[in-house]
Amino acid sequence: MTSAKGYAAQNPTTNLAPWNFERREVGPLDVQFDIQYCGVCHSDLHQIRDEWFPGIFPMVPGHEIVGKVVKVGDKVKKFKPGDLAAVGCLVDSCRTCDNCKVGLEQYCLNGGVGTYNAKGKDGVPTYGGYSNTIVVHEDFVLTISPKLSLPAVAPLLCAGITTYSPLRHWKVGKGHKLGVLGLGGLGHMAVKFGVAFGAEVTVLSTSPSKEHDAKKLGAHKFVVTTDKQQAKNVKGYFDFILDTVSAPHDFRFYLSLLKTNGTHIMVGIPPEPNQVPAFSIIGGRKSLAGSSIGGLPETQEMLDYCAEHNIVSDIELIDIKDITKAYERMVKGDVRYRFVIDMATL
Ligand code: NAP
Ligand code: ZN
Ligand code: ZN
Repeated sequence: MTSAKGYAAQNPTTNLAPWNFERREVGPLDVQFDIQYCGVCHSDLHQIRDEWFPGIFPMVPGHEIVGKVVKVGDKVKKFKPGDLAAVGCLVDSCRTCDNCKVGLEQYCLNGGVGTYNAKGKDGVPTYGGYSNTIVVHEDFVLTISPKLSLPAVAPLLCAGITTYSPLRHWKVGKGHKLGVLGLGGLGHMAVKFGVAFGAEVTVLSTSPSKEHDAKKLGAHKFVVTTDKQQAKNVKGYFDFILDTVSAPHDFRFYLSLLKTNGTHIMVGIPPEPNQVPAFSIIGGRKSLAGSSIGGLPETQEMLDYCAEHNIVSDIELIDIKDITKAYERMVKGDVRYRFVIDMATL
């Protein structure tokens, strides 16, 4: 076994604190890398607090992981020591179901294996990236370009792919009006991709103070959704809304902002179910859809696209000791626009 150290929640009511644990030995097809940076996703907080389902504790969160390879198994072809490497939300899947066969491992029909808060095929819990080292099968390790700033690449592994994938799937681009709902970690990446793909992008936010940043990120318009007049101006306006909100919100209102035939795509995962009156979608033949992260081939495609177009996340680099403070700010919507842990502070 390989000894590892990290930060873990011992149960849903405690804060993260230092914890030592073990990673598996590097197998023939495994890659071990030293984690240099790990992004902080709102999903980390939902899971350590058991907001979605009962979690597996102790829990080491983190699924936006980048670092440098230190060891590879003797059958590994893609990596050698010294290479940069990344891991996102998945570390394994069945590889044989219809979805895995076409690179949609995130929808594995037999249940993919999450980077943390899951159990591997060996029955051993997985532990995430708020730690110094990780061992992952090479098929689930991504390649990153040295051209980009490494800490700012980390959030691409979840916030990046979770917004890139639905925009690609629904072919959002030139001629479309895209509303990005919530300007946090996912939202700010959605703005960057939406703009890069040629859509007219409007940020729909509850935080008036984010307007300047939204425009700097490339958004064409900014709407404070709590301002009645501003909201009225975008009734029936959008072809697509990409919904990144982490808390319960009023679907009746947001669906009213779609055009006829418009699509509201959920990527945010509020803990409680939302109410959706049938009238909100039947009038105007609207669609309510959802999307989860992205498969391995598309995640690599997104990373390559970002390297080519010089797209990274806007980050605030933090010391791991300050993780609880970062969570508190995240809950208040005060994220500009992704916290990334500098693992050298561990
Ligand atoms: P985040 O950085 O905290 O951003 C969420 C943003 O939503 C906030 O900054 C805020 O933006 C807005 N918001 C918060 N509460 C709101 C409310 N009550 N009403 C309206 N807007 C509100 O979170 P994140 O890391 O981007 O994650 C967002 C959600 O996506 C989380 O639920 C997370 O678990 C989920 N997620 C899903 C996937 C997937 O595969 N589908 C992947 C990753 C994350 P404003 O200040 O602009 O209003
Ligand atoms: Zn995430
Ligand atoms: Zn599968």
